Amino acid sequence: MTPILERWTAERSTELYSVREWGAGFFGVSEDGNLQVTANPGCFDNAVSIPEIIAGVQERGLDMPVLLRIENILDTQISLLNESFLTAIKELDYRGAYSGAYPIKVNQQQQVVEAVTRHGEKYHHGLEAGSKAELIAAMGMFRDTEAVMVCNGYKDEEFIDLGLHATQLGFKCVLVIEMPGELPLIIERSKAKGIRPILGVRVKLSAHANGLWAESGGDRSIFGLNATQIIDVIDQLEKADMLDCLQLLHYHLGSQIPNIREIRGAVAEASRVYAGLVAEGANMHYLDLGGGLAVDYDGTQTNFMSSRNYSLDEYCIDVVEGVMTVLDEQGVEHPTIITESGRALVAYYSMLLFNVLDAACFAPDPLPEVLPENTNIHIQHLFDTLKALNLRNVQECFNDTLYYRDEVRQAFSGGKISFRERAMGENVFWETIRRIGILAKDLPSLPQELEGIGHALSDIYYCNFSVFQSLPDAWAIGQLFPIMPVHRLGEKPVREGILADITCDCDGKIDRFIDSQGVKRTMPLHELKDNEEYYLGAFLVGAYQETLGDLHNLLGDTNIVTVKIKENGEFDFVGEMEGDTVEDILSYVEYDTKYLLTRFRETAENAVREKRITPTQRREILQAYKTGLQGYTYFER
Ligand SMILES: *Cc1c(COP(=O)(O)O)cnc(C)c1O
Repeated sequence: MTPILERWTAERSTELYSVREWGAGFFGVSEDGNLQVTANPGCFDNAVSIPEIIAGVQERGLDMPVLLRIENILDTQISLLNESFLTAIKELDYRGAYSGAYPIKVNQQQQVVEAVTRHGEKYHHGLEAGSKAELIAAMGMFRDTEAVMVCNGYKDEEFIDLGLHATQLGFKCVLVIEMPGELPLIIERSKAKGIRPILGVRVKLSAHANGLWAESGGDRSIFGLNATQIIDVIDQLEKADMLDCLQLLHYHLGSQIPNIREIRGAVAEASRVYAGLVAEGANMHYLDLGGGLAVDYDGTQTNFMSSRNYSLDEYCIDVVEGVMTVLDEQGVEHPTIITESGRALVAYYSMLLFNVLDAACFAPDPLPEVLPENTNIHIQHLFDTLKALNLRNVQECFNDTLYYRDEVRQAFSGGKISFRERAMGENVFWETIRRIGILAKDLPSLPQELEGIGHALSDIYYCNFSVFQSLPDAWAIGQLFPIMPVHRLGEKPVREGILADITCDCDGKIDRFIDSQGVKRTMPLHELKDNEEYYLGAFLVGAYQETLGDLHNLLGDTNIVTVKIKENGEFDFVGEMEGDTVEDILSYVEYDTKYLLTRFRETAENAVREKRITPTQRREILQAYKTGLQGYTYFER
């Protein structure tokens, strides 16, 4: 069967890599086969070519890998979330407001918090802080006294005092009671300072969410108060004459909730609790639904954990309607709805760009028509199996070739054949497996044993990044991210491969990819060219990936570049941050690099003394060592 020559187009790449499905209108493929990015979803008139950004990055002397942030995508996402809630509120005649609170932990970079404060101001988009450090960041960056500043997380005296000071300064700072033990301290500090705080209480809902991150909601949640504990809070506040301070009900079901039914269930339950607090006499104003608004990483629009079975508009409508339905029935005034959406706000705005260093392609050596006369019998058997292979005996030949391969290995272990003969046998074996892989595609149904064959035959593309540093969730919780080449998309990708990173850890790889039918074990890739770099991108990495990463194999922070797309389709470089140097990384693990250098000087001097090197060679070696200390931790060409 000769393959029919087919014309490949940019459009076919768009489909192959599901760009429309996961790209949310921000990504597209140009006619000339380059991946484009725009800050106006669905409008590519002034989109920017990612290879062009890469060229600009390199002209500025920054090496791959690079984390690229598109500043105005973040602005767009903030607008979309707020506008969508405002539309739902208007359409449904909801009588309360919406207020966002960006959870700092999702991406703590100053740039992100700054964008929320700058672009979010017109919507009074607030912040959520889960620790003292996050509150200190929020207080330093924030000016908007109409937006909320929600304080979650376990609070010590210092945290509480900071929150009270924020209140004094006029901020709408809410101290959310997460654990029963916090309340006496909050009451005591408020009285001591003479400040009436705004208080919230975090409820443990019985609604249970599925998904990888959902452990933080539901009965098993480690945070939040159950019904008895909340009633106790009310009684204590009443006794302290502070019940009017309790204004907010909070819950957080977990991040990335893919199923709208779970979101609705939680909204309904929480609204009942809210009405209950009103009935108890609390001065309620805010219902805070926490995070959970999911990102469709694989573009399937399903309740699969890497996806979501709802749109942003549906989410907003369902939330607003859910709150109204319960509260209208109870005759309770409509509260300001707060969501602490983080992932959905920042995921799209960063992408990791990296080059491929090499590929190990699966290609057995060509075989002769017949084997030489004196070939070992086991190898002859392997060869005969290969010759006999056809569409009708695929399974049988698969069993035979495995059997004879083991015979060859045993013969080698028993000293009956040479290492060279063993290599020859393995080559015949792999050629057989390769042909079985081709035939298997034409089988009406694939025998179970042959299912993994595509994966076994895949190429390995060695890529210049660290999974542990840049895509930690891909490793830690099996999260899927869209990954694809950013150029050559007018060419058919003829290889199938997995990606290996440059850590020497066998977990340092990506072998699970997005797919419309579930999860794919390999991804389509182009053949490498001799004198041309091949660039890939991992997308939607703006949420959680930037600071969860670690220094496995001492690979550090990547270079970071921020770009702003202009109306006329050009772009400005608005920020660059050099990644860690080797020296930086070593100091993180408590090396004293001056001391290292001193010791190395001595080592080199000893070598001179022992006449292994000349003083001039010593100078060269020391120079190389120093350059290494100041260099990037990734592969430099
Ligand atoms: C992590 C977290 C969030 C963010 O959730 P997303 O799903 O990323 O929007 C919001 N609120 C709290 C309390 C959190 O812990």
